[in-house]
Amino acid sequence: MRRLILVTGDQLDLDSQVLKRADQGLDAVWMAEVAEENTHVWCHKQRIAYFLASMRHFRNSLNTAGWKVHYHELTANPRNDRGNSLAEILTADLRRLAPSQVVVVQPGDLRVQSALQEACDQAGVSLTVESDDHFYCELSDFKQWAKGKKNLVLEYFYRWMRKQHRVLIDETDQPVGGDWNFDKDNRESFSKSGPQNIAAAMLFKPDSVTQGVIDLVATRFADHPGSLDQFVLPVTRKDALQLLQHFVAVHLPHFGTWQDAMWTDQHFLNHSRLSAALNIKLLNPRECVDAAISAWRAGDAPLNSVEGFVRQILGWREFVRGVYFQFMPAYASLNTLDQKRPVPSFFWDGRTDMNCVRHAMQNVLEHGYAHHIQRLMVLGNFAQLWGCDPYLFHEWHMAMYTDAIDWVSLPNALGMSQFADGGIVGTKPYCSSGNYINKMSNYCQGCRYDYRRRTGSDACPFTTLYWHFMDRHYDRLKDNGRLKFAMSNLRKLQSNSEEMRGIQLRAEELFGGLEEGRV
Ligand code: FAD
Ligand code: SF4
Repeated sequence: MRRLILVTGDQLDLDSQVLKRADQGLDAVWMAEVAEENTHVWCHKQRIAYFLASMRHFRNSLNTAGWKVHYHELTANPRNDRGNSLAEILTADLRRLAPSQVVVVQPGDLRVQSALQEACDQAGVSLTVESDDHFYCELSDFKQWAKGKKNLVLEYFYRWMRKQHRVLIDETDQPVGGDWNFDKDNRESFSKSGPQNIAAAMLFKPDSVTQGVIDLVATRFADHPGSLDQFVLPVTRKDALQLLQHFVAVHLPHFGTWQDAMWTDQHFLNHSRLSAALNIKLLNPRECVDAAISAWRAGDAPLNSVEGFVRQILGWREFVRGVYFQFMPAYASLNTLDQKRPVPSFFWDGRTDMNCVRHAMQNVLEHGYAHHIQRLMVLGNFAQLWGCDPYLFHEWHMAMYTDAIDWVSLPNALGMSQFADGGIVGTKPYCSSGNYINKMSNYCQGCRYDYRRRTGSDACPFTTLYWHFMDRHYDRLKDNGRLKFAMSNLRKLQSNSEEMRGIQLRAEELFGGLEEGRV
C-alpha cells in the first residue's frame, strides 16, 4: 500500500481534497470507532450515536465509490475492541498494513492530532497533515490577519472576510444594504402570545444502519447521560442537504428577527440545526452561505436574516477556529477570573427548579442541542455566575452536544461564554441577571423564583449570583468599557451594606444548595 488516508469522525466528505488527490488503486482509507473517544468526556448517548451512525454511512459511501476501507466497528461487548485508544488501534494497524505514508486532514482537535502522531512515530511511518479546505479562511491567512493586532475583534475579522470572499459586497466594495450588520433588527423577543407560525422542524427517521448504532449505544453506553428517544439528525450528505434546503425555504425568512428569543417547549424555533452536519463536513460552509444569499437575491428572505446567518458562519465560525489554532495549546488552561467550581449536578440530568435552566437542559438531554441563546445566556451564563471552572464547562459541553468538537467548543465555551480568555473572543463577560431572561423568554412566568429579587428565599439565582459575580470580580472588571453601566449600578448597590449582606447570604445559601444539587 502506498498511502493510508486517515479519516476522523468529523471529516466525512467524499469530495475532500485528500481523497481527490489519492489513487484508489494504490491508497486505502482508515477509520475507527474508538471507545476512548466516547468516554474521555462522559458523552451524551446521542453524541456517540451521531458520530458512529454518520461514520458508518460514510464508510458505506466510500465502499460504493470504490475505496478500500479499513474500518473498526465498536460492538456491544468491550472485549471485542482491538484497543481502547486511537493511538493503540492505529499503531497495530500500521504495523500490519505497512503503508509507506499516512495522510490526514488537519484534525479539529489537537489531542487527536497528537494521538495520530504518536501512533505513526511508534510504527515508524511518516504522517502528513494536510490543511483543511472545509473552511473559508486558511489558518495561515488568519495568522496574517491577526499579526500585530492588540485585540482580535470579530467585527473587523468579519468585514475583512466579507471583502476577501466577496460575500454580500457590492461593486463599490461596500456592504449590500449599506450596513455591515443588522443586529439592531435581530434582537426581538416574542410578544405575550408567543412565537407564531413556527414551521415544523425537519426530522430524520433512523434507517437500519442508524438504528443498529442506536441499539449499540443504548447497550454499551447505557449509563451515559441523555436520551436516544428522539434521534432525528441528518447522518448522510443527502439528508444534510435536505435540511439546508428546508432551513433556507422555511426558517431563514424569520431567522434574524427572533434570533435571540427563547420560548418554553420551542426547542429549535427558526434556528438551522445545521451545526452538527457542518462540523462533521456533511455540508460545506460555502454552500450554506450561497444558499442563503440566493434566497435573498430571489426575494425569498430579508437581508437582516440572511446577513445574520452569514455572520454566524463566515464570521463567528471562522473566527473561533482561527482563535483555537492561534492560541492553542496555552488557550485551554486560561482562567482569567480564577473560577474553580465543578459543573452543577443538574447540568447532567436537568433536575432543578430554575425553569429556564430546566427547559434548556431538556433540549440538551433530548436532542444533544440547545440554540445559541440557551447556550450563552442560560446555561453558560449560569455556569459563569456560579463560578464554574471554564475548562470543566468546556468538557461538559464536549460531552453533551452533537456539534461539539474541540476547535469550536473551546473558544465558545471557555472564551465567549466564560470569559476565561480575558477578552480574546468576546470583549466582555456575557452575563446577566434574570431580567434579561425574562425579557427574551416566557421562562420566568412559570418559575418558582422571582427574577426581580436578589435577596430572600424566592430570589432568582441568576439575579443574586449576577450581583455576587460582579462584586467578587470588581477589580478585574471595573475598567471594562462595555460594563460601565453595570459597574455604576454595582457601585450604588455596594453603598448599601445591608443589601450587599443580603446578596452575600442568599449567594451562600445557593452555593450550598447547588453543591447538593438542590436549586
Ligand atoms: P444557527 O443559530 O442556525 O446558526 C447558524 C450556524 O452558524 C450554526 O449552525 C453554526 O455553524 C454557526 N455558528 C453560529 N454561532 C457560532 C459560533 N459562536 N461559533 C461557531 N459557529 C457558529 N457551535 C458549534 O458548532 N459547536 C460547538 O461546540 C459550540 N459550542 C458552543 C458553546 C457555547 C457555550 C456557546 C455559547 C456557543 C457554542 N456554539 C457552538 C455556537 C452556537 O451556539 C452553535 O453553533 C449553534 O447554536 C448551533 O445551532 P444551529 O445550527 O441551529 O445554529
Ligand atoms: Fe430563570 Fe430566574 Fe426566570 Fe426562574 S426567575 S426562569 S431562574 S431567570
